[in-house]
Amino acid sequence: MRILYNICLLACVAAVALACKPKEPAKYLALAFDDGPNLTTEAEMLDVLKKYNVPATFFVIGSNINDDTAEMMKRAVKQGCEIGNHSFTHSQMSRLDEDQVKEEIEATSDMIEKIVGQRPKCFRPPYINVKPEMYDWIDLTFVCGKGCQDWVASVDKDARRQGILDSAEPGAIYLLHDFEGNEATVEALDEAIPLLKEQGYIFVTVSQLFEKQKHTPDGHTMYTVVPDERKK
Ligand SMILES: [Zn+2]
Repeated sequence: MRILYNICLLACVAAVALACKPKEPAKYLALAFDDGPNLTTEAEMLDVLKKYNVPATFFVIGSNINDDTAEMMKRAVKQGCEIGNHSFTHSQMSRLDEDQVKEEIEATSDMIEKIVGQRPKCFRPPYINVKPEMYDWIDLTFVCGKGCQDWVASVDKDARRQGILDSAEPGAIYLLHDFEGNEATVEALDEAIPLLKEQGYIFVTVSQLFEKQKHTPDGHTMYTVVPDERKK
């Protein structure tokens, strides 16, 4: 009887200890692709995202949008993805004046809103080329991200997959490309997404990442890892 009592006591203590163990905060990541929309590589990327049921953010170039590619943007949003602004002409924007910068942003945001019914919240500058005034001129959250040189043709699928895995950390935004012909990134993600899921990462859009981390964009930062304010 005494032994039984001791076993019960031990079981209770173990159960309480397990219940009180501090829970790790959820780990979020945001996949984000530049240079679309297009009908080829972007369609393949959306297939992979659908396969694993994960959303992403597509930073589109205004001049790439037409009646056909607009359908790809609609499909992305239908799949739970977000559309971001990647300028209209993909220029080095630090060389442009205020009017030109605003025109690049507004023309692209207008097109996005017309097609998917929502104005973009985030902007990824082409070539991550900025000057300080741009933060005052553009009322969007500036986003950079972690890349794996996936715009370089000689960086193969395996190297891209490894780069994606190596740069994973809670709150991270990725800087990847879905321009036409960039299948190696699609194939790398087809392998990397399930591995990252196994590590406990949850994929969200860039805007959702700010919400999940409870961080309000400060208007003058270019974000690669969104700070986690849940801990404070
Ligand atoms: Zn670009």
